Amino acid sequence: MKGLKNGMSSVSRRNITQRLVVFASHLPSSSSSSSDSTSMASEKQAALATAPSDADAPTIFDKIINKEIPSNVVYEDDKVFAFRDINPQAPTHILIIPKVKDGLTGLSKAEERHFEILGCLLYTAKLIAKQEGLDDGFRVVINDGPKGCQSVYHIHVHLLGGRQMNWPPG
Ligand code: 5GP
Repeated sequence: MKGLKNGMSSVSRRNITQRLVVFASHLPSSSSSSSDSTSMASEKQAALATAPSDADAPTIFDKIINKEIPSNVVYEDDKVFAFRDINPQAPTHILIIPKVKDGLTGLSKAEERHFEILGCLLYTAKLIAKQEGLDDGFRVVINDGPKGCQSVYHIHVHLLGGRQMNWPPG
């Protein structure tokens, strides 16, 4: 264990910590209001715990793109990668991400050079919705920053469908 600990880079340790916090924050809750508030509190904790210090820091999504971590891939082209969320919040829950982050940790960091990739992400969401048979509607979500409950700092579009969505989203 000592060798493992010493051999692990700080980035690896941070990735593991992030994964545990993200996983814990997305555990399903029951429908009682106290569970809901507990879940909301832990999502907030996760978001605060994972706010990035460095725009270039790798995230778990780099390992998923490089297939070092397995995922259920639903779409891939030269710019965009899409896979099923590990903790789905709807019957269909897919994450759509750029293969190259280029500083785009979140939407709030977008610059003019990101114009094309942002369009690609949304257009791909539409293609995948069609591929998934979400003909009666779907929702796309981009969480941004701690108050937006973002937990992975590599921009991603959530595509959710297969059930009736509610509004306001909470
Ligand atoms: P965020 O909270 O940043 O908007 O969304 C991050 C999403 O990534 C969460 O919905 C979370 O369930 C998902 N996620 C985190 N780690 C993994 C993973 O290792 N595999 C997959 N497929 N999804 C993940």
